[in-house]
Amino acid sequence: MFNAIQENKSALASGVPLVDILEHYLRQIEEHKHLNAYLEVFEVSARDAAERIQGKVNNGTAGRLAGTFVGIKDNLCFNGHHVSASSKILAGFESLYTATAVQRLIDEDAIILGRLNCDEFAMGSSNEKSAFGPVRNAINSAYVPGGSSGGSAVAVSAGLCTASLGSDTGGSVRQPASWTGTYGLKPTYGRISRYGLIAYASSFDQIGTFTTNVSDAELLYQIMAGKDPKDSTTSSREVEAHTVKASPLRFGVLAEYMNHPGLDSEVKFSMDVLIKKLQESGHEVSEFSFPYMDYVVPVYYVLTTAEASSNLARFDGVHYGHRSTLAEGVEETYIRSRNEGFGEEVKRRIMTGTFVLSNEQYDTYYTKGQKVRRVLQDKTRDIFTKVDCILMPTTPSTAFKIGEVKDPIEMYLQDIFTVHANLTGNPALSLPLGVHSNGLPFGIQLMTDQFRENDLFYATQLVEKFTA
Ligand code: GLN
Repeated sequence: MFNAIQENKSALASGVPLVDILEHYLRQIEEHKHLNAYLEVFEVSARDAAERIQGKVNNGTAGRLAGTFVGIKDNLCFNGHHVSASSKILAGFESLYTATAVQRLIDEDAIILGRLNCDEFAMGSSNEKSAFGPVRNAINSAYVPGGSSGGSAVAVSAGLCTASLGSDTGGSVRQPASWTGTYGLKPTYGRISRYGLIAYASSFDQIGTFTTNVSDAELLYQIMAGKDPKDSTTSSREVEAHTVKASPLRFGVLAEYMNHPGLDSEVKFSMDVLIKKLQESGHEVSEFSFPYMDYVVPVYYVLTTAEASSNLARFDGVHYGHRSTLAEGVEETYIRSRNEGFGEEVKRRIMTGTFVLSNEQYDTYYTKGQKVRRVLQDKTRDIFTKVDCILMPTTPSTAFKIGEVKDPIEMYLQDIFTVHANLTGNPALSLPLGVHSNGLPFGIQLMTDQFRENDLFYATQLVEKFTA
């Protein structure tokens, strides 16, 4: 009940008071506290909004998202509310403005229900790296939900909001979507404004959605996408309307991805079955070689750590949040505040990024990384001259147990199939594909050409007919 945008809208239309829907979610959140998905519920502002929007519902002037309760990842600003990027360094910090993406939802009468736990500064693949404890997978609470937007994934999967926002720099929406049985969308780079999103790696970051179905993803996307004068990297291309294609689709698969030794055999089997069904119903599925797989994760970590080391320089103990009480003098304030405020993984990345940007290493790592990124972009664009949509696994396997993966490199490899879309800027979506014999869900990932989200939604609707 009350789980999807359309359902809530119908409930409202049939006379269910908005406040009853709010109470429902508040009860669910309370009952699922052990999952640690919400860092804070914005109960006061949500109640105020519910009362105001109920008035609009009563006189027929409510927006497209009346009845929708949205949880936001704790790296998105909402004026007058705390935001911490799940880090101690932002302790006590309150947003001074609202992210454009969040504002556009509010303008359509969505209610922002609270802020959701994530890996610190969106760095992680399991949501175990939050300063406020791990998020637990709702399907089996001994397991991680994936990351870094783990709280956003679990909030949707457990019915603790109607839809949620996350951010995806290397897979942080799609990977947890795969592990929680939800739909995770990362739009084209530059399609949704990053204004008000706490930056991790600015040339990779995109805001994305978690929903229980593809139509909800499309609706939220339509509302949030488009030019924003406050983010100069947003595209001024018009957001395309919903499309339905008459002809069969041309799908592509990448041989090296499908035959990757780390790919779980049950995930592979389900993908093979799906491909066969698509072919049997008249769609084309062609195989391409993409022999760059060994480079995607290393290049991602060279470039994102470089950007992170620069973006995170602003957290100095002076401008925001935590300031060490032990420090004397400016330099010691910087050092101690950063040392006390940042967690281990964030420090590791700042140091790696500083190293790859250093005078002696810059050409060896950063310049080379940019060149490889360009090759990946060109080769991906080539493939999209021949196909409408690339099919690939979202994750090599299902979720692991909390505490099971200790090696950072092993953790980084969880993103082997998702970083591609961030390196190239393409839109990609993960939808549920199946349930493993271990009882945990896994997704399949669809990727289309840049700014072809309408093809992505269409292809998703088509693919999901064969996944049930
Ligand atoms: N897991 C990846 C990382 O740790 C991706 C994170 C993200 O997309 N924000 O960087």
